[in-house]
Amino acid sequence: VDTLFTPDWLLWDGQLRSGLALAVSAEGTVVGVVKGAYAGRRLPGRILLPGLVNGHSHAFQRAIRGATQFVSAEAGQDDFWSWRELMYQAAGALGPDELYAVSRQAFLEMALAGVTCVGEFHYLHHAPDGRPYANPNELALQVIRAARDVGLRIALLRVGYARAGHGTPPNPRQRRFIDPEVETFLRAVESLEQELRGDAAVSVGLAPHSVRAVPLPWLEAIREVRSRPLHMHVAEQPAEVTACLEEHGARPVQLLDRVGLLSERFTAVHGIHLDPDELSLLGRAGATVCACPSTERDLGDGTVRADALLEAGVGVSLGSDSQAQIDLLDEARQLEGHLRLIALRRAVLDPGGGDPSGLARRLLGLATQAGGRSLQLPVGTLSPGAPADFFTVDLRHASILGAPEDRLLAAVVFGAEKAAIREVAVQGRLIVEEGQHLLQQVSATAFAAVMRELF
Ligand SMILES: [Zn+2]
Repeated sequence: VDTLFTPDWLLWDGQLRSGLALAVSAEGTVVGVVKGAYAGRRLPGRILLPGLVNGHSHAFQRAIRGATQFVSAEAGQDDFWSWRELMYQAAGALGPDELYAVSRQAFLEMALAGVTCVGEFHYLHHAPDGRPYANPNELALQVIRAARDVGLRIALLRVGYARAGHGTPPNPRQRRFIDPEVETFLRAVESLEQELRGDAAVSVGLAPHSVRAVPLPWLEAIREVRSRPLHMHVAEQPAEVTACLEEHGARPVQLLDRVGLLSERFTAVHGIHLDPDELSLLGRAGATVCACPSTERDLGDGTVRADALLEAGVGVSLGSDSQAQIDLLDEARQLEGHLRLIALRRAVLDPGGGDPSGLARRLLGLATQAGGRSLQLPVGTLSPGAPADFFTVDLRHASILGAPEDRLLAAVVFGAEKAAIREVAVQGRLIVEEGQHLLQQVSATAFAAVMRELF
């Protein structure tokens, strides 16, 4: 044992416990817990929880926060598709240095929000004219460097993108995303993995963008890679379902099942416009749906039916996606909140049993363990052998002050503001202390400079 972290409360074995210290090895893995309220690194007035896992992120989209909240004169109305054109503008303007600066700022905001691990769905690959950089993985490596400089664990979900859509003419704004062949995409994944050997906090997954952007032969080739997490945007907008029915005579999840892509390694990002057959296909496969409620609300996508998904045996994880906001606990709140607005009742996802913190524990599980499972990483839970990735919340912060013991977890999940988050550790190393990160000033200055250039 190298370090003992001693908070007032610690989530261990699914229960909040007091008088325990978390024992962490020199390599940054959890050894266990020991009794001893005064030992080691004291964290008085804190509750210590497993680090939050942000299952779906496009870091560069932090650059367009607040920039798209109006109806443009030409568009006449604003929806997902008009938002997408503005997002493409930002995507087209960022070179390697700018991408690094914007991504670092997004990851920094995540760290300050208690996130210790991010699944980065990365689709910016080439120079603005569509040609590969000297190192074809240049931009992926910039994003990974940004996450590692902040101290986050990152699963780089390398996107495969082939086309604008079935029977749709090429969109020049997608030039930076597109690989000519599925082999180019799969080779890029392998070479990225090679370049990253040695950093245990970085992993690589496959991310065919969507059934719109990837044709059937690509899906069949991707099926043959059986060892990596597989993430895909699925049924975010009704138009995607209609187009899939037209091209394949099947809904998106039915198509993916037919191709043989559904498994425990598969995560459908969004999974909003699903029919009951698709729910049970995902459930039988043991797949995950990654909900991104603040983005889905912002873009007018619809509501993830987490109640029906969990009922069908589908895992549900959470992501900040477009970075409209970065607050994973609030994503959990919104997931439950959106269901209440539909169902006209409260505590929709409560597993039952009358535990005042039962619903909060379940929601926290979606923001931690479910994300780890989706990224195929042993994170999201504090147990012997797992990486010591955690965050603490200040029990004296105004947003949760005064919560009784049996409702403490509910107070945190439903009430804690980001400012209540004080320490954040990845692999046993504190990257945030007293609510501060060492790179805060440097990152803010660089990010502001990029934003002045962009707008
Ligand atoms: Zn996305």
